[in-house]
Amino acid sequence: MILSHRIALDPTEKQKKYFRQACGTARFVWNWALAEWNYRYDLGANTNTREIKRYFNSLKYQAFPWLKNIHRDAHARPFAALGRAWKGYFSGEVTGRPQFKKKGKCRDCFYVACDKFSCSGKIVRLPVIGPVKLRERLRFTGKILSATVSRESDRWFIALAVEIPQGAVHPPRGEAVGIDLGLTTFAVLSNGEKVAAPKPLGKDLQRLRRLSRAHSRKRPGSHNRQKAALRLARRHRRIANIRRDFLHKFTTRISKNHAEIFVEDLNVKGMAQNRRLSRAIHDVGWSEMRRQLEYKSLLHGSVLTVRDRFYASSKTCSECGYVMEVLPLSVREWTCPVCQTTHDRDVNSAINLKQDTVGYTGINAWGQEGSGLARTASETGLVEPGTLR
Ligand SMILES: [Zn+2]
Repeated sequence: MILSHRIALDPTEKQKKYFRQACGTARFVWNWALAEWNYRYDLGANTNTREIKRYFNSLKYQAFPWLKNIHRDAHARPFAALGRAWKGYFSGEVTGRPQFKKKGKCRDCFYVACDKFSCSGKIVRLPVIGPVKLRERLRFTGKILSATVSRESDRWFIALAVEIPQGAVHPPRGEAVGIDLGLTTFAVLSNGEKVAAPKPLGKDLQRLRRLSRAHSRKRPGSHNRQKAALRLARRHRRIANIRRDFLHKFTTRISKNHAEIFVEDLNVKGMAQNRRLSRAIHDVGWSEMRRQLEYKSLLHGSVLTVRDRFYASSKTCSECGYVMEVLPLSVREWTCPVCQTTHDRDVNSAINLKQDTVGYTGINAWGQEGSGLARTASETGLVEPGTLR
C-alpha cells in the first residue's frame, strides 16, 4: 500500500525562491505540452505525451536556457500528468479537456523522483538546493517512492509517498461498528455514540465573506490586494486544517478499535448537487472520511464494508427486520409495530449497517422487499485504497 505523509517545511528565503521557480517551471512545461498537444490534436494527428516529451527534450535547453537552473524532475513530470489528464478525458471519467494553468489560480507544486533526494530525521535533502528542514519526522517506515513539494498560501509542504507492507500493524480486536452519517450529527455509531463535526466553514463563513469582500475591493495588482489575498488564503487554510484534524482523529480511532467497519455508500456527488445542501455536505467532509477509512482500515488490519446506498437502513427495524412503509425525515424516534422496539432513527440505521442478518438480503418474513445487496469497498470500485492524489 502506498501512503503519503505531508510534512510542513521550514525553507530559507533562498530555498523558497527556488521552490517558486520550480513550480513555475512545472506550470510552464504543462502549458507548453498542452499547447503542443492541442496543436497536433486539432490538426488531426495521432499524438501522445511521450512523443511530445521527446520533442520538448530535444529543444528545451536551446529554447529555454533558464531550465538548466531547475532540476529536471520538475520539467519531466508534467508530461506524465498531462498524459493521465487526457486519458481521463478520453475514457469519459473526467468531463472537459485538460486546461491551461494560470499563475496564482492553479495549485503550485513540483515533483522529485525517489533517487534524487534523501530523508533522515528532520531533514530532507533535495536536488540543487540541499538540506531543507522538516517540521516533523516521517511517520511511516518503508520504501520512499517520490516527493511532491507544494505551496499552500504562504507555507510550503512536502508529501512523501511511502510503500508500506499491508496489515503491518497488529489488527484490532474490537467489535464491529456501523456508522450512519448525517448532516445534523456527523456520525452516529451502532453502539449509540453520537459524534458531532466541527463544521468550521459554517462558523467562519461570515469572516470569510468579509475577507473576500475586502480582497475584491482592493485595486488589482496592488500590494494591498496581495495582502488581502494572503489573509483570505490563511483563513481558508485554517478551516481546512480544523476539518482535516477532526477527520483524522475520528478515522484513526475507528479503524484502530474496530475489527469490522460498516458504512453507507453515500452518493456525495449527487447529494452535493442539491444547492441548499451542497455547502454543508462539503463542509463535513464525507468523501475525505471515506478515503481515510479505506486506507486506515488496510493499514490497521480492520475490514471496511460499504453498504449499497439503496439499502433502506433507517426504515428497517434492526430487531426484527420489518420495513416501515414511510418514515419521514422529521421522525427522529419511532416504534416498530411488530416487535414494539423503540428506535433512535440514526442508531437504528447504524445497527442495520453493521448486522448482515436483517434487511438487505431480499424478502423478509413479512414478504417485504428488503433492499439492495451488500457490497464491499473493493466491489464498489469508487476509490482505490491508498492511491495518491
Ligand atoms: Zn421490529
